Amino acid sequence: MSRNTDQSRKLQHRAEQFIPGGVNSPVRAFRSVGSEPLYIVRGHGSHIYDADGNDYIDYIGSWGPLILGHAAPVVIDAIIAAARNGTSFGASTPAEADLAELIISAFTHMQKVRFVSSGTEATMSAIRLARAYTKRKYIVKFEGCYHGHSDGLLVKAGSGVATLGIPGSAGVPEEFTQFTLALPYNDTNAVEQAFGKFKHQIACVIVEPVVGNMGCVPPAPGYLEALRAMTARDNSLLIFDEVMTGFRLAFGGAQELYGIQPNLTTMGKIIGGGLPVGAYGGPSEIMNLIAPLGPVYQAGTLSGNPLAMAAGYATLNYLLKHKDVYATLDKLAAELVAGVAAAAKDAGVTISHNRVGSMFTWFFTAGPVTDWTSAEKCDTKAFGNFFRAMLENGIYLPPSQFEVAFLSATHTEQDMQQTIAAAKQAFAGVAA
Ligand SMILES: *Cc1c(COP(=O)(O)O)cnc(C)c1O
Repeated sequence: MSRNTDQSRKLQHRAEQFIPGGVNSPVRAFRSVGSEPLYIVRGHGSHIYDADGNDYIDYIGSWGPLILGHAAPVVIDAIIAAARNGTSFGASTPAEADLAELIISAFTHMQKVRFVSSGTEATMSAIRLARAYTKRKYIVKFEGCYHGHSDGLLVKAGSGVATLGIPGSAGVPEEFTQFTLALPYNDTNAVEQAFGKFKHQIACVIVEPVVGNMGCVPPAPGYLEALRAMTARDNSLLIFDEVMTGFRLAFGGAQELYGIQPNLTTMGKIIGGGLPVGAYGGPSEIMNLIAPLGPVYQAGTLSGNPLAMAAGYATLNYLLKHKDVYATLDKLAAELVAGVAAAAKDAGVTISHNRVGSMFTWFFTAGPVTDWTSAEKCDTKAFGNFFRAMLENGIYLPPSQFEVAFLSATHTEQDMQQTIAAAKQAFAGVAA
């Protein structure tokens, strides 16, 4: 072991005294890769630095928000300027409608948007709204899709939950999930059957249009079209959970990339520019059911927080003015994913890979990975070995086989080459 991680270990031991597992979100504990968490003290562009001064190329980007890289000057300047005027008022500020207008401009179906403070709140609230609008109880979600940690959605929820092997979660009465139908992803027949069995009872189908929370799993050709058609036929709402994909795969998210219009869209991550923000939006006809205009209650002390609005606006405004970012990200990510796959092949290590734009996963299975059943076949031990070897070589990948890796606009050609070289060494170790 060349890297010294004494400071991170010390900090973790201290945190464990006061915080469950020492972490405020379970995947950060590195348990599923047989490692210990690093304490990050600084980030700059595509790199992060831990408490022992080690330097890593970061492929997590705060789990998606940091498409402009760490400490992007346009974002930091906007946050500082906003903070000088006060951090929160619990009253309306001009920045809220500014960010709302910019977000709405990205999505054809959207006329109004409501801000919350996390993706979890966005999906929870969108489902409440869908049930109120349709006056129906059932919802459909897909195995391996994660929509935050609200009770009714913690059913076969991928990534963190899957990594820990928790079938849902303790503390959720089964009565709270009895209206949640969890179906296999990319399986049109399963949805058809659900609509047959629960005719006119399904309020909405919520889906990650490109899944990021069982590793990267793209929709099969025609799948999103089929979801659109089946929900429309039954007067059920289609909710695209674009918390991860919104402003990531294209400015207008997966719905722009695939040309499908959902009824409601949930957002988070990038729209907060690294500060806590979530949002849900759709046509006025549906959105006007939310209080104070309508009977659907939803509120938040820090919703629309001025610092978060400033960070989000700076990020989206930059993306709007530099839409070529998406083509560059696509090209670099393609090179990286192919380079690492070739390194695996040379070393005789079996992997498969999925990628859409700047979201990608190397799966330690022959693949193809198209749903949770095929993702689950991965050799997570081999992934853990690969993860630890990459970390030794200064590459910070998501610490779970079932989490997607991200590129930012600050990643360079040199970062790609360095990562591919590290992978060559890592696969030699995995194969041995
Ligand atoms: C991250 C994520 C969420 C949850 O967002 P939080 O801000 O962590 O609550 C919901 N849906 C998707 C698709 C996500 O990737």
